[in-house]
Amino acid sequence: MAAFDTLLEGYRRFRAGPYNDQRARFDALAHIGQSPKIMIIACADSRVDPTRIFDSAPGEMFVMRNVANLVPPYEADGATHGSSAAIEFAVTQLEVEHIVVLGHARCGGITASLTGKFDAAAEGQGAFIGRWMAKIEPARDRIRAAQAISPDIDAQQALELAAIRLSLDNLMSFPFVAERVTAGTLALQGAHFDIADGILRILDPATDRYEPVPVDWR
Ligand SMILES: [Zn+2]
Repeated sequence: MAAFDTLLEGYRRFRAGPYNDQRARFDALAHIGQSPKIMIIACADSRVDPTRIFDSAPGEMFVMRNVANLVPPYEADGATHGSSAAIEFAVTQLEVEHIVVLGHARCGGITASLTGKFDAAAEGQGAFIGRWMAKIEPARDRIRAAQAISPDIDAQQALELAAIRLSLDNLMSFPFVAERVTAGTLALQGAHFDIADGILRILDPATDRYEPVPVDWR
């Protein structure tokens, strides 16, 4: 139960500090509403908090987090799609200008995909994870095949990076995303963050390579 007490202590610090300090900003956000220009799709992993990594202020980023920061493909099947609803809201209601798919190092969802830990869990424990991670199975199978030939490749990072590319492709399968990208009012970006060295890599669409973002110091 100690963890929940720690949570409430944090809330009290927030009320006394940041909330008080940015009172005018919170008032404006409450009365005028939110108008973030950026949507971030990140992993639910506790070590990868986008508002910390990008040092952003309240109201700046519309954040969706799920297991392994995956974007499912567009499926007009009448079923409930929570992640797709968040994307639809960000794009058609908030009219965000950027969607950033933020992957990360040491992703447990990616590890589960590589090991196949939940592949057979059609029902029972692990079934939701197994079905969710099945969305990147084609990429996983390609990397497993490459690893069979070159055992030294970093399969974990390779799949983390491939899954980001796949999510960007899946974003383009949503008609309301594709039409805005074509019109130049919406840009899609892939990024990968490693908490061990603090390095953020951005996918360069021209070269299809991930390049580290330069920083003043390390
Ligand atoms: Zn993760």
